Amino acid sequence: MRTLATTLLSVTAAASLSAQTPAASPLPVAYQRLAREVLTEAVNTNTTASVGSTTALANKLRTRLLAAGYPSSDIHIVGADAKNRNLIVRLRGSGSGKKAILLAAHLDVVEAKRADWKEDPFVIRLENGFFMGRGASDDKSGVTVLITNLIRWKREKWTPDRDIIALFTADEETDATRGIQWVIAHERKLIDAEYCLNTDGGGVELANGKPRMFGMEASEKVFVDFGLEAVNPGGHSSRPRPDNAIYQLAHALTRLEAYTFPVKLNEVSRTQLERGAALQAADTAADMRAIASGYANGTLTAAAEAAVTRLSREPSFNALFRTTCVATLLEGGHADNALPQRARATVNCRMLPNDPPAEVEAAIKRAVGDGIAVSIPYPPVPSAASPLRPELMALLERLSGQYFPGAPVIPSMSLGASDGLYLRNAGIPTYSLSAVAGVDGESNEHGLNEKVREKSIYDAAAFWNDMVKGLAGRPLM
Ligand SMILES: [Zn+2]
Repeated sequence: MRTLATTLLSVTAAASLSAQTPAASPLPVAYQRLAREVLTEAVNTNTTASVGSTTALANKLRTRLLAAGYPSSDIHIVGADAKNRNLIVRLRGSGSGKKAILLAAHLDVVEAKRADWKEDPFVIRLENGFFMGRGASDDKSGVTVLITNLIRWKREKWTPDRDIIALFTADEETDATRGIQWVIAHERKLIDAEYCLNTDGGGVELANGKPRMFGMEASEKVFVDFGLEAVNPGGHSSRPRPDNAIYQLAHALTRLEAYTFPVKLNEVSRTQLERGAALQAADTAADMRAIASGYANGTLTAAAEAAVTRLSREPSFNALFRTTCVATLLEGGHADNALPQRARATVNCRMLPNDPPAEVEAAIKRAVGDGIAVSIPYPPVPSAASPLRPELMALLERLSGQYFPGAPVIPSMSLGASDGLYLRNAGIPTYSLSAVAGVDGESNEHGLNEKVREKSIYDAAAFWNDMVKGLAGRPLM
């Protein structure tokens, strides 16, 4: 998955920050060339779940890493089966005793049908300043940024003050069972780290040719389905009885529709409101600030309550403020001349990371009332919001000022899910910040003619070089 962290924020006002900061250091030409080679190799290697293989790409990347000087003992290609392996590389630090930093990207891509695309999706093209091809953005841009830097750091003989681990997963676009879930279950020691920086998310939004915001996902909602079921002895439809499974379920769904979960903010969503306000029109900005400052321990001031009511009309604000549950599937009855014996609905919930699942379940049971069985087919994977580490936030603000002048760093809670879900659940706080710039929606990830700006790849690679060096020992300039 890859989303620019901006779905919440419509373009209404330009950021007004104008920082007096040193210039960025552009990616040297030799590494621009390397980045092009790596991206070409990555896109041209089909890594779809159907006919592709992440192992094939992992092997090619391993060859590059070996040639750059990584010992084979620090390169691991591991996985559940021969076709869908993961790549893990370690750059050894100076042994200061600090815990490693994990960098992450995913190797697999969403399916792409040749017939639907203008050109072969698995042959990269450079057109009007954009690289085009399946995965050019999601997430082979991330693979390229990390591989280019791993090779650069080895060539430069840079020794970080702690180990840097890079993880390239399979299966992120499907169910992660052969990717991050498998790695955590079987090779946890290879990726154990203080925290993770993920290329697969966040991003720099451009508007009117200028950087508008630097997005960083530090939290995500938790996906859980509930099954609702009404049962009834049924009978002949010529003699309806007062109780009826379809009507019972319909009434229960109407009650659920009317139920609204309480507002709960966490550090990330509160900061998202505070900082995101700068990008909004005055009335929306005032509401966002009123909510951020008027919320404490589950209660809202009257002004914040009124602001929540106004902003909740916008679905992405509503989803930011609270757990949401919505009916997504419906089935019932067995014949057109029979009273229904059974009616079922699936209700899909996106829980706030700090909402206990048992409380959500209890709220649904209260809302639907008696006579409806509520079940959870698959237990949810919890995902605590990652704390906004001051040293990381400060560094991002400084670097964003250099590379993307005028773009404030805005942490966000993703409404979808990624490998970060499993890493957070495994105790590794995760921050998704691709640093790849684009106009919102132009990459068309998962869709047709996926593309990424050529310059954005080089800028992101240079940004990650400065970021990782800043976090792992190079003195701040
Ligand atoms: Zn992705």
